[in-house]
This record gives sequence, C-alpha cells and structure tokens, in this order.
Amino acid sequence: MRIENEIKLGFKDVMFRPKRSTLKSRSQVSLERTYKFMHSTHEWTGVPIMAANMDTVGTFEMALTLADKKLFSAIHKHYTIEEWDAFLGNAPKGIENYIAISTGTGDADLNKVEEMMNKHPHLKFICIDVANGYSEHFVAFVKKARALFPDKVIIAGNVVTGEMVEELLLAGADIIKVGIGPGSVCTTRVKTGVGYPQVSAIIECADAAHGLGGLIISDGGCSVPGDVSKAFGAGADFVMLGGMLAGHDESGGETVEKDGKQYKQFYGMSSATAMDKHVGGVANYRASEGKTVEVEYRGPVNNTLLDILGGVRSTCTYVGAQQLKELSKRTTFIRVAEQENRVYTK
Ligand code: 5GP
Repeated sequence: MRIENEIKLGFKDVMFRPKRSTLKSRSQVSLERTYKFMHSTHEWTGVPIMAANMDTVGTFEMALTLADKKLFSAIHKHYTIEEWDAFLGNAPKGIENYIAISTGTGDADLNKVEEMMNKHPHLKFICIDVANGYSEHFVAFVKKARALFPDKVIIAGNVVTGEMVEELLLAGADIIKVGIGPGSVCTTRVKTGVGYPQVSAIIECADAAHGLGGLIISDGGCSVPGDVSKAFGAGADFVMLGGMLAGHDESGGETVEKDGKQYKQFYGMSSATAMDKHVGGVANYRASEGKTVEVEYRGPVNNTLLDILGGVRSTCTYVGAQQLKELSKRTTFIRVAEQENRVYTK
C-alpha cells in the first residue's frame, strides 16, 4: 500500500482570484472556441459545453436546442437506427457538427456504429463511453475504432489520470472524457471507494492531453454555472453536463406531479432504473452505481443555458479573459474552506 499525500481538489475547494481587467461588459466575451484534433482532420467551432450521453439528457430534442446555440450533445446510445434515421431526416443542416453518437465496447455496439456510419457518413463524432476506461479491452476497442474510422473525431473515456489520457490518445482517441465519481447521480465513490476530485483530475489530464495535442472533456460534478467556469479554468476544453440539463422539456422522461408540483425523473446510466429499462435488470455480478432521483421540472432548457453562459461570461470578465480560450491562462485558483453563504438558502 502507498499513500499519495498531495491534496486533490474538487469544485468546492477552489475559487477564482479576481484580476485586473479592461473588459467593460460580459457582452464583450466570446465563448466560442475552434479546435483541431490529434487524429481527425476535422475542425470544430462552437461553445464547448455538452449534454451528457444519458437517456434523460442527451436526447434528440436537447441536441436541436443546444445546436441552435452552437452547443454540443453526446446523444445517448439507446436510440435505434430507425429513430436516428427519422431524426437525421428532420434535423437542420450542420447538426453533425454538434452531435456525437455514443457507443459501448461490445460487438453489437460496434456493429451498430458501423451501420450508422455507412448510412449517415456525414456524422463526425463518436463517443466511446465506459464507466472504467482503464481496461486493456477498452484501449484495444479505441484502436479498432480508429482503424475503422480514420477521420472521425473519437471521444473516449472515462479516466482521471494523465498516463491513461496519454495511452488513449496514442491509441487513436482525439478527446478524452475525464471524471470518475463526481456525477450528480453517480454512486461509484460510495459503492467502490474509487474516484478522483474533479478539479485536480482536470488539471492533471489537461496537462497530459495538451502535451500531445489532444483535448479533454470534464465530465460530471458541475452543479452551478461557477463549476462550469472552474472546469474551464482548470484546463478543460469541453465541459459535459448531466444534472444541470435534467428536468427540462428537452430532457427525457415523463413529467410527474406530486403535491401540486411537477417533477421529472433523472437517473444514472448504471442505475437500476436504466438497467431495468435497457438491459433487463442489474446483472447479479455487479452493483448498480447510479441513483434515481426526481428533479423539479424547469421548463425549456433555454433559460438554464442563458444562466450557464451568462455565468461563464461573467467569470471571464472577473479575470480579464476576452475569450473563453484565455480563461485557463488567466486562472489563479485560491484554495478555500467556504463557498456560498447559505443563510437564505432553503
Ligand atoms: P452530472 O453533470 O450530473 O454531475 O454528471 C454527469 C455524468 O455522470 C455523466 O456524463 C456520466 O459520466 C456520469 N454518470 C451518469 N450516469 C452514471 C451512473 O449511473 N453511474 C456513474 N458512476 N456515473 C454516471
């Protein structure tokens, strides 16, 4: 046994130190970024915030609303090919720049991706997603995907340490998804004791990725717009959101009414709810590692997006970053033992 004594930090442990700025207003701040990729020759321009590939968040409806503002959606993997055909028949031109298809690492998953790409060759992004990105099988799958789809943008995850970021990038991924355990409906840390505080994971993984020309997504743990800013400040190229986008019209799941209030169901993709729905229950060799919750219904997602984008713009003005690109360069985090004053918080 060995202990690493260096403290690892999460969103709640840091704040931005404000810096002198010449910006007059947050309306001067541009949140668009343009990225080139390590393997794919595509180039991407947009606002690098993503809907998570959860069936309650990464829906077609969410993708249409987000794409309209140049935000990205990792579409969940449970849509059938027929549902995809129907969506792509309606969706506006250019939607392929703002959506990824998601896949696991089974043979059936790979067959489905191949069929999708043959039918819809304009799709550009593939998100290969497993809870634990540390297995050799996963690395082999990423290599296979790169060989089959030489010019697609491949997202792979999840991992939380630099050496695995490097391994997956060298195996053929363009973007690495970072986060084990921080998610709002994740119980991995409780069930397994495994995890890594998200701000430190981002700092360390961004450093590893950027050294090779790769990119990272911070995935999980953002509960307020300030956390999204902190993820960018720490070095994330993209920030993926689950819970912050749940509960809206565009989110999946039924709206239910309780005591005169409306709620929407939101659950982890490894929760018993998701496994019952998609794979006929939790297999007896594993534990469910996700929660099922009901979140207050919040109407159209547009209002929430304005709140998030306004928050990130405002962070940029506090540190003097005219573009999102400058935010991490201008970030000095201070370690803190307090966050919000909750006197009037219910
Ligand atoms: P949030 O933004 O809600 O904090 O986190 C969203 C992320 O949580 C997802 O993108 C995914 O990485 C992770 N996640 C989703 N479902 C589950 C689950 O059932 N178990 C675990 N461990 N993580 C999950």
